[in-house]
Amino acid sequence: MQEYNINNYLDGVKKIGMCGHIRPDGDCVGSCLGLYTYLKNNYSEIDVDLYLEPIADKFKFLKYSDEIINNADADKEYDLFIVLDCSAIDRIGEFAKYFNSASKTLCIDHHVSNTEFADVNIVYPDYSSASEVVFTLLDREISYDTACALYLGIIHDTGVLKYQSTSAQTMEIAGKLMSKGIPFTDIIDDTFYSKTYVQNQILGRALLESVLFYDGKCIFSVVKKDEFEFYNISSSDLDGIVEQLRITKGVECAIFLYETAPLEYKVSLRSKDLIDVSKIATYFGGGGHKRAAGFCAKGTVYDVINNISEQIELQFEKEQDNI
Ligand code: AMP
Ligand code: MN
Ligand code: MN
Repeated sequence: MQEYNINNYLDGVKKIGMCGHIRPDGDCVGSCLGLYTYLKNNYSEIDVDLYLEPIADKFKFLKYSDEIINNADADKEYDLFIVLDCSAIDRIGEFAKYFNSASKTLCIDHHVSNTEFADVNIVYPDYSSASEVVFTLLDREISYDTACALYLGIIHDTGVLKYQSTSAQTMEIAGKLMSKGIPFTDIIDDTFYSKTYVQNQILGRALLESVLFYDGKCIFSVVKKDEFEFYNISSSDLDGIVEQLRITKGVECAIFLYETAPLEYKVSLRSKDLIDVSKIATYFGGGGHKRAAGFCAKGTVYDVINNISEQIELQFEKEQDNI
């Protein structure tokens, strides 16, 4: 640990801008607010602005979540712009404006598909989360608020410390964060497991309409635009559906699509042991990790599933050849 230190990048820096990826998830919010609170607590002489698309209500208990700026309307230039939990520059949306005009840029990430788009790229693909990477960069006081944010990020990207990306180091860091007296049970229950009534309804519907294929080794389900309107939900209400599909007995690879525009889908891929879904997502212009990845696809559901199936089959065939 501690190969890099955030302190090394702050010499002479007066204004910092930060952002995470579009449609921010738990790790994105946790790593951003974790570093934001750390900088505010320990470097009060530096001005820091944090940019994110609107975050889910369940994350708003985190300190300073009310200071997050949701748009890139202001004309600002930063000495340092930090991008977190983001594999490629096209994943920061309108905040690219601040990235492009900054004197120096830093990316803190854990995606195996990271394109090293910043001046300095601190990328550990074998770390569970960007929040874990952030923790290893800090050598000053970690406050209760920083601990809550980083713990939340780790919990979300590890599926509560269970995915294969969870290491002994992840558990040690989670332990250190818990020792700050954070309400870890509530963080897990309220932000990871708890669901609203409509979230449960849409989950139930997605499971009911899911389709097993490839001898039961793959499963997919789709949520269409009219269902968004019917249930009055947003994309963050679909969190957890692909995880539930993934744990279907006998399934190696789960695919979940939701319609973002006519003939346009956001695709989430998850696998258990064999399929490297980051390779498939990267092939289709997205990215991610070995067991969790995503991309945006155009076409009919039939086309999208067919195209993904071909790539899954290729990997299964390779696997077969290696036996
Ligand atoms: P998701 O299925 O959206 O939960 O994403 C799973 C993982 O894949 C996350 O680490 C995302 O950052 C990554 N990912 C999802 N969509 C994309 C995309 N369009 N481009 C690059 N990475 C993505
Ligand atoms: Mn993320
Ligand atoms: Mn992440």
